[in-house]
Amino acid sequence: MMENKKILITGGAGFIGSSVIRHTINNTIHSIVNVDKLTYAGNLESLESIEHNERYTFEQVDICNANEIKRVFNDHQPDIVIHLAAESHVDRSIDNPDEFIQTNIVGTYTLLEEARKYWSNLKGNQKDNFRFHHVSTDEVYGDLEETDALFTEDSPYAPSSPYSAAKASSDHLVRAWQRTFKIPTLITNCSNNYGPYQFPEKLIPLIISNALEGKELPIYGNGKQIRDWLYVDDHARALLHVALTGKVSETYNIGGHNELKNIEVVKTVCSILDELLPSKLNGIDKYEQLITYVTDRAGHDVRYAIDATKIANQLNWRPDETFETGIKKTVRWYLYNQTWCNHIKDGSYQDEKLKVVKK
Ligand code: NAD
Repeated sequence: MMENKKILITGGAGFIGSSVIRHTINNTIHSIVNVDKLTYAGNLESLESIEHNERYTFEQVDICNANEIKRVFNDHQPDIVIHLAAESHVDRSIDNPDEFIQTNIVGTYTLLEEARKYWSNLKGNQKDNFRFHHVSTDEVYGDLEETDALFTEDSPYAPSSPYSAAKASSDHLVRAWQRTFKIPTLITNCSNNYGPYQFPEKLIPLIISNALEGKELPIYGNGKQIRDWLYVDDHARALLHVALTGKVSETYNIGGHNELKNIEVVKTVCSILDELLPSKLNGIDKYEQLITYVTDRAGHDVRYAIDATKIANQLNWRPDETFETGIKKTVRWYLYNQTWCNHIKDGSYQDEKLKVVKK
């Protein structure tokens, strides 16, 4: 029989973390403590469907705050850590790298150190079965030419942006803590996620939101950058599966086998919108007429593509969604959940923070 585990998730109010929490609470017997600072990217409205579940607890804590992290470990006695908290938007890392260095590097170091101290005092099975799962990105591998082979777990690190360099640093810290202190860690590196509850500064929700408002749909450079797209709930299932069944000290790449050019993604979103909500905008029959090419991002990577055969062969994980099925679900979700989107646009989603602080 499956044992009930206490899982400490960092960054659980974000896009992917909230999917992991909803999946865990809705489909398993495990309990969650969600540790999140609630930066601009943290949104407790994404957790409304499970927030009253007795297996869910929220702690508004910054992972850079060692005393608070120590308290959280002592109070909640987790069996597993899944570490997602990070600054995650590449454009913001170019404008202002400081928070990326703090949270992604110093924060990961702080969490690792407190996890190590907590783990070293555990006894018996609890110590043997403890796991620290670090969630990372395929962007640590740099980029590929169109004809290059896919990224594998052995691809060399070559990050290009302050975001990916900070994530690469955090991966190195995790491997060093495993090797030196023997703390049981696992790392996953995943491709681009898309799906419900994504902050509207990222490509797909931005395109949907701008199209509905009749604003320009901005595409960087020539739009030919290639990304490998994975539906967020597939990633969430993979993360929990790796945390529970992955082999300690291993790295697993997670991908959707969906390599697409950014322009193809944007045109697909436009054509689904044309079907579901035909344009009533003046002079616009098809949403793709709103596409506008803008100056490329500095250092923009050309292509990322993941070889996810290791996780398929060794842990029997595969995505459920193709891009065609996932993107339809996604566009539909944004159309039916305009309140969630509007609360981000008008800033009222941050009122949730005040409620938490007052408790
Ligand atoms: P996100 O920006 O939506 O969420 C990040 C969450 O972390 C937010 O809830 C935020 O409040 C919290 N946070 C930030 N700084 C914190 C701090 N100092 N202390 C505590 N909490 C803090 O990010 P996401 O897209 O959900 O990504 C989650 C993780 O997955 C990140 O580590 C990211 O690098 C990784 N990842 C993301 C993708 C993707 O496509 N989005 C792909 C691969 C890997």
